[in-house]
Amino acid sequence: MSIAVIGAGYAGLAAAVELVTQGQTVEVFEASRTLGGRARAVVTEEGTIDNGQHVLIGACSETLRLMRTVGADPQRLLQRLPLTLEFPGEFRLAAPPLPAPLHIAAALLRAQGIGWREKWAALRLMHRLQRDGFCVVPDRTVSAWLQEQQTPSRQRRFLWEPLCIAALNTPPDRASTQMLAHVLRDSLAATRAASDLLLPRVSLSALFPEPAAHFIHRHGGTVHRGRRITLLEHSADGWRLDGAGPFSQVIVAVASHHLDALLPELKPLVAHFEWEPIVTTWLTYPPTIRLAQPMLGVSDGCAQWLFDHGQISGKPGLIAAVISARGRHLDLPTAELERRIHNEIAHLVPGLPSPSSVRTITEKRATFASTPGLRRPPTRTPFPGLWLAGDYVGSALPSVAGDYPATLEGAVRSGVQAARHVLSASIQAG
Ligand SMILES: Cc1cc2nc3c(=O)[nH]c(=O)nc-3n(C[C@H](O)[C@H](O)[C@H](O)COP(=O)(O)OP(=O)(O)OC[C@H]3O[C@@H](n4cnc5c(N)ncnc54)[C@H](O)[C@@H]3O)c2cc1C
Repeated sequence: MSIAVIGAGYAGLAAAVELVTQGQTVEVFEASRTLGGRARAVVTEEGTIDNGQHVLIGACSETLRLMRTVGADPQRLLQRLPLTLEFPGEFRLAAPPLPAPLHIAAALLRAQGIGWREKWAALRLMHRLQRDGFCVVPDRTVSAWLQEQQTPSRQRRFLWEPLCIAALNTPPDRASTQMLAHVLRDSLAATRAASDLLLPRVSLSALFPEPAAHFIHRHGGTVHRGRRITLLEHSADGWRLDGAGPFSQVIVAVASHHLDALLPELKPLVAHFEWEPIVTTWLTYPPTIRLAQPMLGVSDGCAQWLFDHGQISGKPGLIAAVISARGRHLDLPTAELERRIHNEIAHLVPGLPSPSSVRTITEKRATFASTPGLRRPPTRTPFPGLWLAGDYVGSALPSVAGDYPATLEGAVRSGVQAARHVLSASIQAG
């Protein structure tokens, strides 16, 4: 069977890896010379950074499985930290080394910066979600849900709202509680390891996409870089991609906003998707500069989270500041945004000198907005032998109940799902 995958982001590469593992021959076509899509390395004069700081969690089971498959050892390439949310001087929650679910109960009960009433309220909230099987019917915004649960304000501000923005990249007043509940079910309410934070020690292209491409080549497949597909044509012998082919099966693993350029007929499936940005500012300080933790929250700042790459990826002095979702920061000129972020870091690091270089990357369409009741297209399309993969595709893997927000794990799962459809189509074909 001849199979093509369009797009070498995490979804397309996951699909291709799964297929070559099962003995299929696959050709991957990627528009860019760099693999990874929205999670990729960016080469600058100062060195290699990422298009945006990414955080995985222990619950990213399919991503970790496929990393192992392609020989990208998660233990070496990801720094694993027990769940810790710290806003210096305001709030700290850290999961102790206890078996689940005690680690989360203990983390909440020992949290600093909220009172006992708030701690019990947080436990009750988790308990209610668990009792309801993490089903939120009808789905509603996280703000409305927190309001209904009469969640105390500091708990909202330092726990649920930062978790919502970090996990869904959508402001709480627009974010789907159901999607947040899926993430909570698979992380905080699962095993202790599932709630660990995993921070990439290498670039996002080196983490999985490059090892995946080598793996695909070793298994007889091809990854074509710099090959943007502009025309998909179907005829009796299969699909042709800008004349290449024919392919009996094609997985289209492009972002949803690139879908209509290839398949205008599918536009109605994705036209209602809205986008949320992510801004990442990379600041280079002298190597002696260090944050108190590899990852720190900023309260009432422009930045939301700071990442110390001296403690993460062996680049002392390099700090990434992340601002997820839409907000007023988007109205600021870049130089002003960078100045404010530097001042916020200076509050945490006394005597901080000016950075020797600053680079801000704004991904305007970082993720789709995870809004309540969002309709997601299925993997199967109305066209024979044509499948969809990507973080926006609805989940139907038997092991995964419910949709994920736009994440690496969501992308990888959709890729695996598309590959399994192709494999069963090949069995049926004979
Ligand atoms: C700044 C930022 C921060 C993020 N932070 C996190 C995080 O902390 N944790 C997390 O889990 N997720 C995070 N995400 C989300 C995550 O990166 C995405 O959900 C995921 O990478 C999507 O993968 P994908 O394969 O579905 O799509 P994409 O990565 O968009 O891949 C699609 C690929 O298709 C290619 N393509 C498009 N059109 C064509 C064509 N016609 N022909 C050939 N190729 C084509 C594109 O070049 C691209 O490489 C973040 C995203 C951004 C941008």
